[in-house]
Amino acid sequence: MAAQQPDFDVIGIGAGFAGLGLIHYIREAGLSIRVFDRAADIGGTWTWNRYPGAATDSEGYYYCLTFSKEVLREWTWSKRYPGWEETHKYLHFVADKCDLWPHIQLNTDIVSADFQADSALWRVTTGDGQTFTCRYLVSAMGMISEPYIPDIKGLGDFAGPCFHSARWPQEGLDYAGKRVGIIGCGATTVQMMPVMAETAASVTVFQRTPNFVMPAVQQDMTPQWDKEIKDNYDEIIAKCRNHVFGMAFDSPVGRNLADTPPQEVQKIFEEHWPRGSFRFVFETFDDLLSNAESNKAAADFIAGKIKDKVDDPEVAELLTPKGYPLFAKRPPLDHGFYEAFNRDNVHLVDVKEREPLVEINRDGVKTTQNQYDFDIIVLATGFQAYTGAPEAVAITGKGGATLKEKWATQSASIMGVCMADFPNLFTITGPQAPFANLPTSIEQNIMWITDCIKKMESEGYNLCLPRQEAEEAWVNHTAEIHEQTLMAQGYKVNSWMMGANIENKNPRVLIYFGGANVYYDKLRDSVDEGFPELTFARV
Ligand code: NAP
Repeated sequence: MAAQQPDFDVIGIGAGFAGLGLIHYIREAGLSIRVFDRAADIGGTWTWNRYPGAATDSEGYYYCLTFSKEVLREWTWSKRYPGWEETHKYLHFVADKCDLWPHIQLNTDIVSADFQADSALWRVTTGDGQTFTCRYLVSAMGMISEPYIPDIKGLGDFAGPCFHSARWPQEGLDYAGKRVGIIGCGATTVQMMPVMAETAASVTVFQRTPNFVMPAVQQDMTPQWDKEIKDNYDEIIAKCRNHVFGMAFDSPVGRNLADTPPQEVQKIFEEHWPRGSFRFVFETFDDLLSNAESNKAAADFIAGKIKDKVDDPEVAELLTPKGYPLFAKRPPLDHGFYEAFNRDNVHLVDVKEREPLVEINRDGVKTTQNQYDFDIIVLATGFQAYTGAPEAVAITGKGGATLKEKWATQSASIMGVCMADFPNLFTITGPQAPFANLPTSIEQNIMWITDCIKKMESEGYNLCLPRQEAEEAWVNHTAEIHEQTLMAQGYKVNSWMMGANIENKNPRVLIYFGGANVYYDKLRDSVDEGFPELTFARV
């Protein structure tokens, strides 16, 4: 019997960096692809997160896709950390230049996907009931994309606009002269608040846990810097590929804080602090994320800087992280966050100890001590990281269980790219992949996925089954490494890096912390060895 013909060889869900990259590599392999996105435009994160101040935290010149030399040559970033508008324009530039649009279908919500055992095809269903079939299904939905909205009493009662930061009104929002309340104090608020404070009547931040916020140090691109980047792109890409966090940094530096005299430590920290970016962690000492005392020295240094920047000692104290190591929560980068608390129109409310949240009501936010009236409330309350987006689509594998059911207690995968019981399904930056400069990881994942599909096509297979033992081995390996890191303390402070930010969810190992570079090597080894984690068959 002739094999059933699918509508497409590959269907991708999500048209951000991952979906766009996927189109390129799959098309190069000579296969058909359609990428669906529920949004009205491409861009993923960069179309949803239109909040004021939204910008990359990686330096833009390596927060990019690398498959097109033409794009690398012709696109010029205007700043060290491009804002969302510019990043969004860049993705349009990529889609135009590489002719990706014919493969993209927007305004289409994929609500379910079912594996058909008899044909080895996936059938996906859209929100309006249309169905499409494919041989390979790829989640390109992003690892920080599914908003998390906590169950706060009265959430629907507020009279004005009240929305999650990643659902910023697409048409924009006039907040000038308005009283704004922001619930949450993570990377989003750190970027958003100082910009809003410039024109809002007031901005009140409801903080539960303070973060270690390091300086970003924004810079304009100069012709000379742009030339230097473009002349050295191969080296920059190689640096990212070989770095523990996929970034173009000069590390390891070959120096541990534990072996450095205290005066020298302070000197090195002081020298690096004004340079900005995560370079402060990666280009100072190699043991900040592995040695508790070294980490504490860095944390104390940052605490000192908070005190220097914030005029009111009481506010500075509230903003100072306590009881957890630097990087147990993902540290945000600062574009004037601390200084903004010196403005008369910016207020900080400690909802952890002093005055816990009671409810949102018609007029604003009520705590145990006060009623705060607002015109606008922003819920900058984070995301269901790694698993949230794939879980939101009812993806049903070969045994009849959904991914959400599979991941109820443990978010198991093989290298974050595939899962036992889900044949011919791939995830780009799925759970238990590293947390790194995302475009680097995205492209490495896509290459592995494309190589796997190419092998199946050339060898006449139509079924790939991720092996249970391989999944168990990856889960155990990831857990072992996780346990040895300071990031494992994230459960104490609701870190999304362990899913610990979600109420009623047991904290889990969501991230491979063995080094992105080591992980990329493992992906490559898997390809070279013929994908020993998978069983191939033909139905
Ligand atoms: P987040 O870091 O998870 O912060 C969420 C905030 O909401 C936290 O302060 C949290 O408090 C608070 N919160 C949650 N539930 C609450 C409740 N019931 N009552 C009071 N407060 C509550 O989320 P995010 O700021 O959106 O950032 C998430 C991640 O997205 C970042 O770490 C980063 O990886 C990525 N991101 C990247 C960029 C960039 O690269 N440019 C920008 C923004 C975001 P607790 O901490 O106490 O739980």
